[in-house]
Amino acid sequence: MYLLETNELKVHFPMKNDKKVVIKAVDGVSFQIPEGKTFGLVGESGCGKSTTARAIIRLYQPTGGDILFDGKNTANLKGKDLKEYRRNVQMVFQDPYASLNPRMTVNQTIMDPMKIYKAGTNEEMQRRVYELMELVGLDQRFAKRFPHEFSGGQRQRIGIARALALNPKLVILDEPVSALDVSVQSQILNLLKNLQDELKLTYLFISHNLSVVDYMCENIAVMYLGRIVEQASREELFQNPKHPYTQALLSAIPSIDHQLTGDEKFLTGDIPSPANPPSGCTFHTRCPYACERCRKEVPGKTQISETHTAFCHMIQK
Ligand code: SF4
Repeated sequence: MYLLETNELKVHFPMKNDKKVVIKAVDGVSFQIPEGKTFGLVGESGCGKSTTARAIIRLYQPTGGDILFDGKNTANLKGKDLKEYRRNVQMVFQDPYASLNPRMTVNQTIMDPMKIYKAGTNEEMQRRVYELMELVGLDQRFAKRFPHEFSGGQRQRIGIARALALNPKLVILDEPVSALDVSVQSQILNLLKNLQDELKLTYLFISHNLSVVDYMCENIAVMYLGRIVEQASREELFQNPKHPYTQALLSAIPSIDHQLTGDEKFLTGDIPSPANPPSGCTFHTRCPYACERCRKEVPGKTQISETHTAFCHMIQK
């Protein structure tokens, strides 16, 4: 049983200054996350991964498709049912500087969701704040301080404590370390891993950084221009990437066991506008293997193995 499942999820927006133009920010995204696992969504900025997350948490209303949580469709949730769903699905945002209210102390910030949900007496909520601070590695003595008195890493710890305040089942981590110094990133990633083990959390992990996704995720989907172009277990994706876009992203990772050979297929050009996506395979304007067929025909799904799929005309199993 999956904790979260999206089927052909679509989020389309009318363009601000020309309502007749539709931006297909998310255009038919399907994936499943088993309970207790971490699923990674990767791609360049503007590929639709954060919009997917915001649709799951219902900050955006999906245009089409389904989002199933614990087997139940969330499409028509309203009022009390939507509130209960949101209690179970929390989000940690990229920018710990912008996502915390500068006028609220740490204590108020972490207690705020508990107050909204009336999650206990004042004493119980206060105890829980201290418990959460300890859990994320913050000293209780800091409870009365304001966000500007903390470093980026500490602020992200506050954001994580706040996200955990209501005991959610699923936590969406939207680029949770990309605004932090490299030296702090691994501390936060390790904290997230430890919390997952301890609290049996399920994560949707969003990042543009494949090294980070490699460290955190069991299964990964690569998104390009609103669609998933390849999906696989971490091992399969890193050892046997099939889609040229995934190959290009992987080529750009410098690491000890991934020496640059000179044959790398680095990405050139910008990601096209989702308001006016290229015909056929939307990656054809940047793909080194693009042919006439790619410009005309949308590639279908190729099942490479039980857990590995990709959308490209040139893929052979
Ligand atoms: Fe490249 Fe064609 Fe495959 Fe698209 S379908 S990724 S353009 S080879």
